[in-house]
Amino acid sequence: MKRIGVLTSGGDSPGMNAAVRAVVRKGIFEGIEVFGVYSGYQGLIDGKISKLEAGDVGDIIQRGGTALYSARCPEFITDAGQEKAIAHMKEHGLEGLVVIGGDGSYRGAMALTKKGIPAVGVPGTIDNDIPGTDYTIGFDTALNTVIEAIDKIRDTATSHERTFIIEVMGRDAGDLALWAGLAGGAETILIPEQAFDLDDMIDRLEKGKKRGKKHSIIIVAEGVMSAQELANLLSEKSDTETRISVLGHIQRGGSPTARDRVLGSLFGARAVEALLKGEGGQAIGMVNNKVVDYDMEEAFKLKRKVDMSLYNLSKELSI
Ligand code: ADP
Repeated sequence: MKRIGVLTSGGDSPGMNAAVRAVVRKGIFEGIEVFGVYSGYQGLIDGKISKLEAGDVGDIIQRGGTALYSARCPEFITDAGQEKAIAHMKEHGLEGLVVIGGDGSYRGAMALTKKGIPAVGVPGTIDNDIPGTDYTIGFDTALNTVIEAIDKIRDTATSHERTFIIEVMGRDAGDLALWAGLAGGAETILIPEQAFDLDDMIDRLEKGKKRGKKHSIIIVAEGVMSAQELANLLSEKSDTETRISVLGHIQRGGSPTARDRVLGSLFGARAVEALLKGEGGQAIGMVNNKVVDYDMEEAFKLKRKVDMSLYNLSKELSI
């Protein structure tokens, strides 16, 4: 393999740039050419592809977002879209592709690999929900952004002795809510993976008040319900008055933490090594602190599970 491409796809996450930089520099180090594909799979379909030199990925390791831009591209899910993309890859002589993105993007990489174009997946999403890895690039930065917000909200919650509901991202995955809740000392955490008990929540809030707690923080993952819906439920079923805060897209931005930069660098370099084996179809990840590559299909069979021991611990510690 002498020439490969790299793209970022789906929801962006801080640290993707570190991964792009690592792919380009590791590729050049290994004596191959690396081409950037702009705006995810859409860029493959439109032929937005250009060669990247080592200097082209300078000064991006510290930036959030993705210098290659990202997009959702429904056309790529179709056979015709994939054929257009492959034609452009062949035109540019690209023999393999590194795809940095979430599980949707991985499916695109699998589709290409099945059609004879080796592609590997690097997990980039703040949701931490990709099978075959304990951590995804961007999760740590998003988590720290949420913690910073919780700490600030806690200040005002204490001053006014209020209960706050903070809505965080996570449609199907509760990792961000769970880790943020534990690290932020939340009284209650609602995640999509665990049915919640409103009476129990009210009970815990009341007990907290009785023991003199000045404030309460409830973290809700957007996939469970909105902060407003939860506030309505609480005011209907109890005399708890709440304030809400929806963190929204600030969770996706910002300069990546050291951890996400290191993960991005490790994963990007490993992706190039995996591609150079020639077959493609690997999912890069970190399991038990070791960088690994799994067969993507096998990784998907593993199914990503939220760590319920963290959930249980947070309940024990927030009495
Ligand atoms: P993420 O990668 O963050 O999960 P999406 O699920 O939106 O984001 O997927 C990103 C892109 O990956 C989609 O817009 C589409 O181009 C491609 N993709 C998703 N699912 C498939 C699929 N089953 N086959 C081929 N490509 C897919």
